[in-house]
Amino acid sequence: MPVDVEDLLEQIAIQVRACTNCALHKGRANAVPGEGPPDAELMFVGEAPGADEDRQGRPFVGRSGQLLRRTIVEAGLQEAEVFIGNVLKCRPPGNRDPLDGEIATCRHYLEAQISLVRPKVIVTLGRFSLNLLISPELKISKVRGQHIRRGGQLFLPTWHPSAVLRNNNLLPEFKRDIVVAKKLAYG
Ligand code: URA
Repeated sequence: MPVDVEDLLEQIAIQVRACTNCALHKGRANAVPGEGPPDAELMFVGEAPGADEDRQGRPFVGRSGQLLRRTIVEAGLQEAEVFIGNVLKCRPPGNRDPLDGEIATCRHYLEAQISLVRPKVIVTLGRFSLNLLISPELKISKVRGQHIRRGGQLFLPTWHPSAVLRNNNLLPEFKRDIVVAKKLAYG
C-alpha cells in the first residue's frame, strides 16, 4: 500500500498535540504542529509559537505571521501551497528564546515533517531554525540570502519577520529572499 504522507503528517500533529516531553506543555493552550500540503515545494521554519499562535493552534497568525503571509502572497504564491512550521511546537513563557534542551527534545517532530514533505527549498526564519537545520556556527547577518546546500537539502536563510517588524530597513531583503525562494522552488 502506498504511504500516505498526509496521514503521516496528521499522525505527527496528533503526537505534537499530546506531547508532554518538555515543560512547555504545562503552559500551552494549544500546541502548534505546523501546517501545509504534504507535497509543498517550499517550507518556512520559524522559531516557536507566540501568544496568538498558542491561542489558535496555528503557526504565524500574529503580527509577524501576517507580515510573513502577506509577503508570501506578494511573491505570487498562495499561503495554502507552502508548509509553515517552527523549531518548537509550544510557546515558551513570555516569548523567551527557546532553550537548548527544549530544541533537543522537540526537533524530531520538525525533522520528521521535513523528511515527509521533502520540500525543494527550506526558508529558515531567524537564527534558531538557521542554527538547528543548517549549522550552529552560522550568523544570520552573515548568511542571509545565501543559497546553502546541506545533506542534499537546499536552504535559504532570511530574517525572522518579527526582526523585520522591529527594523523596517530589513523589509526589502526579506521580500527579495522570499521571491528568490519561490523561484528556486517553483521555477
Ligand atoms: N514566531 C515564530 O517563530 N513562529 C510563529 O509561529 C509565530 C511567531
